[in-house]
Amino acid sequence: MAGLCAAARARELGAKPVVLEKGSRPGGSMLLSSCVVWRYQAFEDFRAECPGGDEQLQRAVFDGFDEALEWLVSLGPEVVWEDTPNPRTTGKRFDPRDLTETLARAAGDVRTGQHLGTVTETVPVVLATGGFAVRYAHEHGLLVRCNPWSEGDGLDFALKQGATTAGDLDEFYGRAMPAPPARIGAEDYVRLSQLWDGEARFLNENGDEFFQGPPAWHESDLAQAIARQPGGTAWFAVPADFRDDPRVVGLREAGGTVFEEDGELRLHVAAAVTHTQGGIEIGPDARVAGVDGLFAAGADVGGVSTGGYSSGLAAALVLGRIAAEAALK
Ligand SMILES: Cc1cc2nc3c(=O)[nH]c(=O)nc-3n(C[C@H](O)[C@H](O)[C@H](O)COP(=O)(O)OP(=O)(O)OC[C@H]3O[C@@H](n4cnc5c(N)ncnc54)[C@H](O)[C@@H]3O)c2cc1C
Repeated sequence: MAGLCAAARARELGAKPVVLEKGSRPGGSMLLSSCVVWRYQAFEDFRAECPGGDEQLQRAVFDGFDEALEWLVSLGPEVVWEDTPNPRTTGKRFDPRDLTETLARAAGDVRTGQHLGTVTETVPVVLATGGFAVRYAHEHGLLVRCNPWSEGDGLDFALKQGATTAGDLDEFYGRAMPAPPARIGAEDYVRLSQLWDGEARFLNENGDEFFQGPPAWHESDLAQAIARQPGGTAWFAVPADFRDDPRVVGLREAGGTVFEEDGELRLHVAAAVTHTQGGIEIGPDARVAGVDGLFAAGADVGGVSTGGYSSGLAAALVLGRIAAEAALK
């Protein structure tokens, strides 16, 4: 999302940007997402939820959000929700396919199957490769729950130019998903998420309760706790009355493991990585610290949501626009 937003904004300002997209299609993880673009209602809440983040960067995302969202709506994508149902947040939900098509049209020159290595001219570059979720998942034996191309190319590129990192490189935003042998496709990432709030007990492979719920409202803390258990897997114990619940039926239909014991259902889940939270250090104008002509936005950037969770789409939208504006200066 960040790259498309940066290019759309740059084109609007009179430049001729090119989006190099490594994948076979534009839209990255945005296309697979629930597509709720949001911010906390109050900045203090953002700080309290993501206490390890860079306050100036968080300010930039928070303060730039309303105007950026208005701009996004003005491009004409289908709006599915006019506001979020969560009273602590505000924003909009879009149709991800329509939003991708709208942004790709506004960005103009989007070249798929191309990547950073193909940049030869000396031009400002906005890194927006979506972080390193795929690499992180593979290195830690976890499931991938994002586009398959976000392998850390932006971070590697920036580090080679002398950039520094921000945030915790070991922190990710993720979900509990049905564990193998369940077969999960990208179209299942939202539908088969195992979000049980306070209704489950959480046991590891040794039968120990490793997480005293309830999880945080985004449940990313639980996903990270599962990732630290043997095998990166866990068993959710929920009341047997839930046997016809869509979360249980979906897990079973995908080929996952469910069994009943002592009046409880046991669901086998695995930690899945949606995006990494640490990344490239930038200033509030999206300039990569210490590297001239280089900018970064979205999940390539560290220090926005450190210690908690905030909208990855919002960071991509706001920082993508800021990066374009700064690059054109
Ligand atoms: C199932 C799911 C549900 C989600 N729901 C929400 C939600 O409701 N709200 C929310 O805020 N967030 C949500 N997210 C997270 C959100 O999608 C991401 O935070 C957001 O897409 C990050 O934006 P980005 O531009 O950094 O990365 P992406 O949107 O993933 O875009 C990165 C792009 O870079 C490309 N790329 C990678 N490497 C290279 C390279 N070397 N050269 C060129 N291109 C490259 C990738 O192919 C991709 O197209 C969800 C994610 C998933 C998977």
